[in-house]
Amino acid sequence: MICISTRGQAPAVPFRQAVVAGLAPDGGLYVPVTWERRPAGWWEGLRGAPFQDVAVAMAQSLLGDEFHEGELATLIRGALNFPIPIVQLDETLQAVELFHGPTFAFKDVGARTLARLLSHLDLSAEAPGAKVDAHDHPLTVLVATSGDTGSAVAQAFGGVPGTRVVVLYPEGQVSQVQEAQFTTLGGNVTAVAVAGTFDDCQRLAKMAFADGALRQRVRLTSANSISLGRLVPQMFYYAYAALQSPAESRVVISVPSGNFGNLAAGVMAWRMGVPIAGLIAATNVNDTVPRYLATGVYEPRPSVATVANAMDVGAPSNFERLSWLFGGDRAAMQAMIAANVHSDDDVRRAIARLHRRYGYVADPHTAIAYLGTQAPQHRSTPALEHLFLSTAHPAKFAETVEPAIGQAVPMPPALADALARPRLVERIGPSLAELANLL
Ligand SMILES: *Cc1c(COP(=O)(O)O)cnc(C)c1O
Repeated sequence: MICISTRGQAPAVPFRQAVVAGLAPDGGLYVPVTWERRPAGWWEGLRGAPFQDVAVAMAQSLLGDEFHEGELATLIRGALNFPIPIVQLDETLQAVELFHGPTFAFKDVGARTLARLLSHLDLSAEAPGAKVDAHDHPLTVLVATSGDTGSAVAQAFGGVPGTRVVVLYPEGQVSQVQEAQFTTLGGNVTAVAVAGTFDDCQRLAKMAFADGALRQRVRLTSANSISLGRLVPQMFYYAYAALQSPAESRVVISVPSGNFGNLAAGVMAWRMGVPIAGLIAATNVNDTVPRYLATGVYEPRPSVATVANAMDVGAPSNFERLSWLFGGDRAAMQAMIAANVHSDDDVRRAIARLHRRYGYVADPHTAIAYLGTQAPQHRSTPALEHLFLSTAHPAKFAETVEPAIGQAVPMPPALADALARPRLVERIGPSLAELANLL
C-alpha cells in the first residue's frame, strides 16, 4: 500500500515506512494513494464471517504486498483477539461493542495492532533512522491522550522489548479509572501529567516530532490516531458490522467523534467498498467538524470539558485526513456524513433512556453515538438500519452512568485491580523545553 502525505510535499512511501514515521516529514498525515474498490462479490464472500476472518482478509488485501501472508495473519489475530458483540436493541437499531479488549475501550483495536506492527518492523530494522544504534536506544512511543488512548497504547506496548511509552495527559481532566490504567503500569511506561488541556498535549507531541535536534537524540514515533497504523485496523470492524446485516439492508453507522480518527477509518472502509449507506459524526459540544459541515468554515476552538472526555477535542487532528479523503469537497462530505452535536444533559438523558427502554447500559461516548441515530433526518428515512459504535465500557465512566441509571455498574476485575495500584506520575507545564528535558 503506497502512502502519500495529505500536504503533498513528502515522498510516497510504503505502508511499513508510514507506520514507523507516524507523521509525514512535511507535517501532513499519511493516506493511501489509491482506493481500489473491492468488488461487491468480494464483500459478499465475507458476509456473516467472524470478525477476525474479515480483519485478516482485509489486511491481506490491503497490505499483502508488504507482508508475508502467515506473518500478517498472526499479527492481526494476535492484536484483535477479543470479541466484538453486536447487540440488537430493536429491529433497526444495534450497538456494536468495541470495548472488549484489555483496556475496555475501542482504542485497543488500533493501539494493539500498531504496537505489533511497530515492534515487528523495528525488529526487522527497516525504520528510517533505525541505524546501528537501534538496539541501544529504545523506540520512544510518544502519545497524547484525552483519556483512553493512553491506556490502550501503554497496555499494548507494556513490556514490549526495545520500546518505551511516554503518555501525555491533561492533569485532572481524565477519569479516575482512565488515569489508573496508564499510571500504574511502571516498567517501560512513563505517565506525564501536563498542566493544560488535551489540545496542549497534542500540540506538545506535534512540536516534539517536528524538533530536529530532539529527534537526533531520541528515536521517536507516534501512536496517536495520526498514525495510519492505527486507522487501518479500525476499518475492519466497519466491514464486519455492516456485513452482519442482510444484503438488502441499508446500513448507517453512527460514530462518537473527537479526534475523528474513527470516522476517518469508516470513510476509508467505505472507499474500499464496504456496503455502508451513510456515516453519522456525533460529537459533544466540541463541535468543530459539525460547524464546518454546516457552514464551510473550519475554525478550531479551545476544547471544552464534558462528560464524554475522550471526545473533548477542539482541534481534531484527523480533520486534515478526512478532508483529503473527500478532495476538500464539503458537498461530497455532506453527502456521506451527517453530523450532530449533544450536550452533557442530552447525554445523561440518553443513558437513562437506553437503560429504561432496552436495559442497555451505555457509557457517555456510546450514548452520543446512540443520540446520533436519533436525529430527525435519520428517523424519518425509512429502511435504514442504524448501528452505533459502543466505544467504552460503562464502568470506566461510572461517575456519570450510575446517577443516570440509578444503580451501580459492576466493575470488571481488571479495572478494580488498576484502581488499587499505586500511581506513578511525572508533572510538566505545557512547554516543549520541559518535555524535551524529560525525554
Ligand atoms: C477516543 C474515543 C472516542 C473518539 O474517537 P476519535 O477517533 O478520537 O474520534 C470516542 N469514544 C471513546 C470511548 C474514546 O476513547
